[in-house]
Amino acid sequence: MDVPKISVYESDRVVNVNISTIKNALRDISRIYGVPIRDYEFTLEHETYEGMRHIPHQGFIEGETKRIHLPKTTNLSVVLHEAAHYFMLSRDIPFEFGKGEGLYFHLIEETLVELTVADILTYRFPSMVDFIGDHRQIPSKVLKQRLKSKDPSERFVLRQRFLEDALLAENNDEFDRIKKESDDDISQLFSLGKEKHEIGLRKIVATIALSNSSQLYKRSIPARRLFYEITKDVLKLGVHDFYFLRLIPLVRGCRIQVS
Ligand SMILES: [Zn+2]
Repeated sequence: MDVPKISVYESDRVVNVNISTIKNALRDISRIYGVPIRDYEFTLEHETYEGMRHIPHQGFIEGETKRIHLPKTTNLSVVLHEAAHYFMLSRDIPFEFGKGEGLYFHLIEETLVELTVADILTYRFPSMVDFIGDHRQIPSKVLKQRLKSKDPSERFVLRQRFLEDALLAENNDEFDRIKKESDDDISQLFSLGKEKHEIGLRKIVATIALSNSSQLYKRSIPARRLFYEITKDVLKLGVHDFYFLRLIPLVRGCRIQVS
């Protein structure tokens, strides 16, 4: 398996993680979204966590306990990233990671998180900071060849481009056909066992969310607008329709007729 690349952003800096680092991050996030700041309470514990060895220098949140895990010293972008997840979790914006709809929710959330960090740090996105390559920047001839990859997470990411093309061309049959193929990629990924599917899902979510958020950032769509649309419409439209009928047209800079 490829060695994951770590993205370091311009305007980023290294910080010591403590309670006020997290509280400041949450304050910045509230300001960016235009919502009132809440008073959050935290306790700090030091521990070694073996389970994160395959994704070093990063943090994560335990969905059930709402515990934030971060390295003692890390980049501010990593703190802001996990704080943005925490912000949504603490406001009961659904947090799911898994099959089907859960995957698309995670893509929506991760896109918002990346865009939020970009807005706060006002950085320029590096051009290629992902595991598989930006499927929106790879020539379609190369994409087609790479669809033969044995790695289902790679195929899923690359296929999204053709799926989006079919969507924007309003070719429903083609869209349904490719959607079924990408659902098959996910089923195959799940059949590889827990560790491989977790790494595969991380690759999928990180790669697509970075591409999505860098496109939105380039189009000057602020995190505040995406946050507003998510809280207003995800439950109303459903995760799948929100992703394809709202988010993707914004990402691709196209309008789409919703029938
Ligand atoms: Zn994340």
